[in-house]
Amino acid sequence: MLATIYHEGRSIDIHVEYNARAKRIRLKVGRSSRRIVLVLPRSVSVKRGLAFAQSKADWAVRQLALLPEKQVFQDGLSFSFLGRESVIHHSPSAKRGVWFDENVLWVSGQSEHLARRVRDFIKKEFSAYALQKARKTAEQIQVHVQRVTVRDTTSRWGSCSRTGHLSFSWRLALAPLFVADYVIAHEVAHLRQMNHSAAFWQVVEELAPDYQRAEKWLKKNAAYLYSFAAKETD
Ligand SMILES: [Zn+2]
Repeated sequence: MLATIYHEGRSIDIHVEYNARAKRIRLKVGRSSRRIVLVLPRSVSVKRGLAFAQSKADWAVRQLALLPEKQVFQDGLSFSFLGRESVIHHSPSAKRGVWFDENVLWVSGQSEHLARRVRDFIKKEFSAYALQKARKTAEQIQVHVQRVTVRDTTSRWGSCSRTGHLSFSWRLALAPLFVADYVIAHEVAHLRQMNHSAAFWQVVEELAPDYQRAEKWLKKNAAYLYSFAAKETD
């Protein structure tokens, strides 16, 4: 449900959600959706939850203000795609879907579908890239990658199951290639070591020698990667 709190005389929308697994009241600011979300355990009333949110209004407004400018996939937007500087050109009458020509990402069709088509294209291309890269990296340490999924993750860039199923955030396609390659190598290394021990990091270093630079880049630029909307409603 949608509720309202106030900050310096202005009203602010709050999305209230009940979560059976929540242990305490939590206020979150969505990095991509830019929504303020109040998560309540079953035992807490909306009224009490909103009083809590009101007491944190200052913090929430500050968090929102700190977010970088929102990036919208639209005609003229420049971004790095798999390490390639790209600019979107909308060509409404073309009938080719989405395609690359030099550094131009051409998108046909109506403008209201453009952002979704670009995102679908990025996810598809990145899926193929990540699968190929993960399999090649896995060969180096003789492990097997079963499957690769590309999703919109909120808290992790990648994950890995014991059965060899790797999963990555589609946003990594918008990071420099050495960063995406590092996250892929990190998850592949987990197929050898399902932990973050010294032995694990040794495997990572073997697969991605500049992993520390990639880690730093991700910490510094996470907010930028999350500033791209994941859905039309964001
Ligand atoms: Zn890990």
